[in-house]
Amino acid sequence: MPGLGIGQGPGLSVLSVAAEPAPELTRGVTLLHDALACRPSALFSDIDGTLSPLAETPERATVLPGCRTSLLALRPRIDLLCLLTGRPADDAWRMVGIDDALYVGNHGAEVWLQGELMRPAGSERYDGRLGRASATLRLVLAGVPGLVFEDKGLGFAIHYRRQPSAAGTVRQAAERVASERGLQVLVRSAHVEVRAPVQGDKGSALLRLADRRGLRGVVVIGDDPVDAPAFAAAREHAKRTGATVVTVTVGGFRPPGDIQVRDPAAVAELLLATARSLER
Ligand SMILES: [Mg+2]
Repeated sequence: MPGLGIGQGPGLSVLSVAAEPAPELTRGVTLLHDALACRPSALFSDIDGTLSPLAETPERATVLPGCRTSLLALRPRIDLLCLLTGRPADDAWRMVGIDDALYVGNHGAEVWLQGELMRPAGSERYDGRLGRASATLRLVLAGVPGLVFEDKGLGFAIHYRRQPSAAGTVRQAAERVASERGLQVLVRSAHVEVRAPVQGDKGSALLRLADRRGLRGVVVIGDDPVDAPAFAAAREHAKRTGATVVTVTVGGFRPPGDIQVRDPAAVAELLLATARSLER
């Protein structure tokens, strides 16, 4: 019996749910239900690879309609819905399109809330340097095919998903140009980011929110090593406060979380079943 996308099995699509839910789905819903029933509660979710299938370029990625439906169903049952993403926070809001949510963007460095974008004080003074660094790198890397530059507000990314063999060249060039201008370089799975030297990652953002809001139930979902600090922060919050925390990993993420699901379609299925369970 395939695992409805949950666990190690090949899984079914969200459109072929069997009459009887798989044991893995039932277990996942029970864990999420028990965590989110502890109020105040929060769901922290990554976007790319978690709610949207990975795409060659950021602008081609779209949130699965089923994921959005599930988040909307869950929203009234929890106290905080927070999207934790490497995208700019306002870009994340445009992509997910749920107003009643908090968008923590640029890996924890900025926040979008109810139409207002909040960036670290003073970060705008790096805009000129970032612009010059981007222009220099476009020139230096002009001979490398398949690269995609993305403006991220606090910095910019150079994606090489279409040209993985260019990783070393891109990283070296970015590190040289950034160090000359007092900027930082963050190496990700299929891109590098050059950004203003601001602090913060997904973990510190989660811990701050969990602490400020006194969260008693926390669910964290992610698919990538950049989500690891968020998982660790949630566990740290549980250790400090006794809150109930459940981690959900998507795809081949290692080490697996408390629940491991196959792909964004399985995330949608899990969240929708959890929302229905909380309605009862
Ligand atoms: Mg991701």
